[in-house]
Formats: sequence, structure tokens, C-alpha cells
Amino acid sequence: MRKIAILASGGDAPGMNAAIRAATRTAIERGAEAWGVWDGYNGLVEQRIERLTSRGVAGILQRGGSIIGAGRCEAFLDDARRRECVDYLRSVDIEGAVVVGGEGSLAGAMELHRLGFPCVVVPGTIDNDMPGTEITIGADTAINTAVEAIDRLRDTASSHRRAIVVEVMGRRSGYIAVMAGIATGAEMIITPEHPVEIAEVIREVAAMAKRGKRHFIVVLAEGAEWSAEELSRHINAARGTLVDGETYLARPSVLGYIQRGGTPSRFDRILATRMGIAAAEALLEGASGMLVVWHHNSVQIADAAHLDPPADPWGETLGHVHRITST
Ligand code: ADP
Repeated sequence: MRKIAILASGGDAPGMNAAIRAATRTAIERGAEAWGVWDGYNGLVEQRIERLTSRGVAGILQRGGSIIGAGRCEAFLDDARRRECVDYLRSVDIEGAVVVGGEGSLAGAMELHRLGFPCVVVPGTIDNDMPGTEITIGADTAINTAVEAIDRLRDTASSHRRAIVVEVMGRRSGYIAVMAGIATGAEMIITPEHPVEIAEVIREVAAMAKRGKRHFIVVLAEGAEWSAEELSRHINAARGTLVDGETYLARPSVLGYIQRGGTPSRFDRILATRMGIAAAEALLEGASGMLVVWHHNSVQIADAAHLDPPADPWGETLGHVHRITST
């Protein structure tokens, strides 16, 4: 292969730039040209590409976001438009693509693969919800950001004897919530994978208040049954109904996009660099329809058509954590 494309798709994640840099330099070192596609699949549909040079990707390893943009693209969901994209890529002699993105981006890349256009995908999403890989690029940084925010919120919760319901990102996955919750000693963690009854939340909140604890932190995954606003309302509505006394006043706090940006952690920088190298190497050696994965402490290349769904290792963990935080 003499010419490859590199694109970042879906939501941005810290570490995407490190992967773009590594894939670009790997291609160049192996005698191929690297071309950046602007704004994910939008740049294919709208034919917006730009040559990437070794110097051009200097100084981006430590920067969040993506220097070639990222984003969603409705038009790419249409098969005819995807065929046009492949025709376009071939017309400019691009022979394969490294796609950095989440589950949706992987699905898009697999469609290109089925049309005979080689693609290798690097898992880049803060949600850590992709099949076959134990971790995705950006999740570690997002957890660190959530942890820092929750530590601050706890100071305020303690000072004012409050319950704070902190909503963290993760789409349908509870990964960020569980990890940030463990790291901050949260009193309760609620995820889509392990739903709880509202009565249980209220009972727990009241029991802690009775024991004299000054704060109650709930880390709530965005994919859970209620929003932070709704859960806070439920907790507050129960205040008047409790027989023996006082409980906390609850306040919601939604961390939102703050978790998607920022300088990548050293873990994400290293993971992204290793995965970016592996993706470009595999593509140049003729791989297609493959996902770079982190498995058993190493970077591997897996056939994306046959991957296990994301594991749910935290059900048991949650039980243990609950016992040590319920003091
Ligand atoms: P992420 O990659 O972070 O999961 P999305 O789910 O929004 O983000 O997907 C990113 C883009 O990938 C979509 O906007 C669309 O262009 C493309 N895509 C998603 N699913 C498919 C699909 N089934 N077929 C083709 N393209 C898809």
C-alpha cells in the first residue's frame, strides 16, 4: 500500500491525536503517504482530505480532541453514499484507512470493508463499550476527570450535609460510573447494567443520614433509568415521608462534555500510540475488517466480525465496594 487515509469518527476522546500521530508516522516510516480525512466520515462524503506529514503531527500527542476533527455523519448510513466514498478514495489512489472511533465508527468501517475497501479500526471512545477490547482510548482520562470533579463535589456535600447525584457519561455503559465511583469512595453507584429500585436508594440515603454521615455521593451513569435531576427529585420528595427524621437534601450535578476533552492521561497516550502503530502496520500488511484490541495486557489485532461483547466484570465488584463504603 502506498497511500492510506486516517480518520477520527464519532465522539472525540482524549488520546485520538496520539493515535493519529502514531499511525501517520508509522505509514511514513514504511514508505507510504498518510492522508487525514476531515470530521470523520463527513470528510469522505464531502471529499475533504489533507496530506499528513511527520512534522504536521508534531506536538499533538498531549492534546485532547482530534486535529483532523471527529463527528457523526448521517449521509454515511446510506449504502449508495458509501459506495461513492469508496470510488472517491480509489480515484485519489488511497488504498486503505485507519479509523479511530467507537462502536458506530467500527460499524461504518466494516461496511467499507464489505465493499472491498480495507479498514483497520482503533477503539477510541471514553465509554469503554466496544467488543473484544478490555479498554478503549480515552476512558482512563475520562475517569480521571470524573474523579477530580467528584472529589470537589464531595467537599461541598460534606460542608452542607448534602446528597449529590453526579451524572457521568458512558452512553449505555456503566464503566466510567463504576470506576469513578470506586476511586472516590462513592456511597452509591448506579449503572444501566445493575439497576436499583428507587425505594432502595431512598432507604440507603436515609440510613446513612441517620448514622451521621455528612455526605452521600451517588455516581449515576448517563444510561441509567433516571437522570441526575430526576433521581434528586425522587430523593427530595421522600424527605417529608420518612418516619424517623432527617435525610439529606439532594442536588444533581451533570459533568457532561467536560469528560470528553482535556489532555490525555499517560495511560491513554501510551495505549493510543501502541494501537496507532499496530493499526497502520496491520493495514499496510494487508489486514482489513480488523479491530485493534487490548487483551491480556497486550495490543492485538482481532477480526472485528467475530468479537465477544464487552464484558461486565463489575457486578461482583459493586457488591464488595458497597460493603466497604457503607460505614
Ligand atoms: P461512535 O463511533 O463514537 O460510536 P457513532 O455511533 O455516532 O459514534 O458513529 C459514528 C458514525 O459512524 C456515524 O455518524 C455514522 O457516520 C457511522 N456509522 C454508525 N453506524 C453505522 C452503520 N451501521 N453503518 C455505517 N456507518 C455507521
